[in-house]
Amino acid sequence: MDLKTAIRAIPDHPKPGIVYRDITPLMADGEAFRRTVEGLASAFKAHRIDKVAGIEARGFVFGAALATALGAGFVPVRKRGKLPHDTISRSYSLEYGEDVLELHRDAVAPGERVLLIDDLIATGGTAVAAAELLAELGARPVACAFVIELEGLGGREALAGLTDEVFSLMQFG
Ligand code: IMP
Repeated sequence: MDLKTAIRAIPDHPKPGIVYRDITPLMADGEAFRRTVEGLASAFKAHRIDKVAGIEARGFVFGAALATALGAGFVPVRKRGKLPHDTISRSYSLEYGEDVLELHRDAVAPGERVLLIDDLIATGGTAVAAAELLAELGARPVACAFVIELEGLGGREALAGLTDEVFSLMQFG
């Protein structure tokens, strides 16, 4: 089974002209979910990852499973106001307005080998903000991983100076 068949295309969501890639069927299919996590884990098992940083919310799902597979810890990169302890924050632009990501100041230690993960990269704005937070703590991500890459939107290029490697398991044009 081609894993891409487990991704549902939702035309005109959230607005006309956008094809939304819905990853919930892949997560709901035991074999597809396992193969996704195994595919990510095999790409990074030689990287000696100390911590996987997952971006809220679907980055938590894949990030937690991947951390377990790699024998690494997991740290959450969360939306504004969710983390209870001392945080650092970074705002980033959305199509309309802006949003804020936060990270606990003690989530990673300087020099730790961190893998950043989210379900999908489009323009890269979300992942860039998360990578900048990690860099601020002295833990520039060694790689950024995504289940899906929407090609042609500049995400990979936006991350270029912030990490050594951008990896995606599947690509949609
Ligand atoms: P970016 O910041 O433009 O790269 O957008 C990526 C963020 O938006 C990620 O956190 C994704 O979860 C979410 N996102 C954008 N487009 C889609 C989509 O088609 N399907 C699922 N999530 C999406």
